[in-house]
Amino acid sequence: MMKETKPLIGLTLEGLRQVAAQCGMPKFAAGQMARWLYEKRVTAIEEMTDLSKGARQRLAQEGYIIGREAPLGEARSSDGTVKYLFRGAGGHDVESVYIPDKERATLCVSSQAGCKMNCSFCMTGRQGFHGSLTAAQIINQTLSIPESASLTNIVFMGMGEPLDNLPALLDAIEIMTAKWGFAWSPKRITVSSIGKLRELKRLLDETKVHVAISIHSPYPSERAGMMPVERAYPIMEVLALLRDYDFSHQRRLSFEYTMFRGVNDTPRHSHELARRLKGLDCRVNLIRFHEIPGSELNPASPEHMERFRDALNAEGITATIRASRGEDIMAACGMLAGKENKNAQS
Ligand code: SF4
Repeated sequence: MMKETKPLIGLTLEGLRQVAAQCGMPKFAAGQMARWLYEKRVTAIEEMTDLSKGARQRLAQEGYIIGREAPLGEARSSDGTVKYLFRGAGGHDVESVYIPDKERATLCVSSQAGCKMNCSFCMTGRQGFHGSLTAAQIINQTLSIPESASLTNIVFMGMGEPLDNLPALLDAIEIMTAKWGFAWSPKRITVSSIGKLRELKRLLDETKVHVAISIHSPYPSERAGMMPVERAYPIMEVLALLRDYDFSHQRRLSFEYTMFRGVNDTPRHSHELARRLKGLDCRVNLIRFHEIPGSELNPASPEHMERFRDALNAEGITATIRASRGEDIMAACGMLAGKENKNAQS
């Protein structure tokens, strides 16, 4: 039977300390490994040349590998967006989307294969839940695309609900922001969530990353129609929690609002949304709905979106219309579906 392999990427410094202890290496070897993994970005244990030969052999004997996995496939949009397919979980692959935009280069990463939240407007939600990604699989998305070195921002807005995979999410954020990791400012990272309350509080308490909340309607009953999760995590409770935190500087709070024709694009909605968000330091991102097979929802017209944006701005809520990217390769918001991987082992 083949020995199970254990990726080193995805391990925090504490995790690497445990590996060092297990392999009879000195404590400081954890810092050396972190540097090779996250700064030098090596792809093979033999490249960690300041570890002794014996230590490298022991790592291999214990089943450790670097754990880097190249994308299984890619699709390139005419607008420069690139969608990458990675091995995921539960026999289903996941997708990451690289979005170049002038001096910014953003990677939209997935945190789960599929999703439990079942939002009616989302392809990922349609496919059900197949499993959470490990921290190694999350970090691998950032390390193994060809554009890795030029990334300026990470958004957890790909497949899955990041707060439904909190331990791996927190480890990945620690790796991205720690001095021994990528040493990124947390301001380069945004976590998008439906607002899983307890986990959201931990994210706010334990990290300094930006937060984006999927709201999509200011009316709880209407929101529940699109997002069944409203019943478990009412938006009013999410807003109450957010009011306990300071978003006036350093950390940004935004709300994601996908616009559906005749459903949530009326002046009544913009007025109520402004009323709900009053007093919160935040901005609203208006997102064009990308039609998905089998959905009866339609995109709001550009005129309605502009009118909605102007109405929010007039009521003191900063709102912008997010540019749609990668629609021709099914990489835009709500369109990620991955694919079944018949060869994958769950
Ligand atoms: S929109 Fe986000 S939370 Fe909702 S089903 Fe899709 S991936 Fe899950």
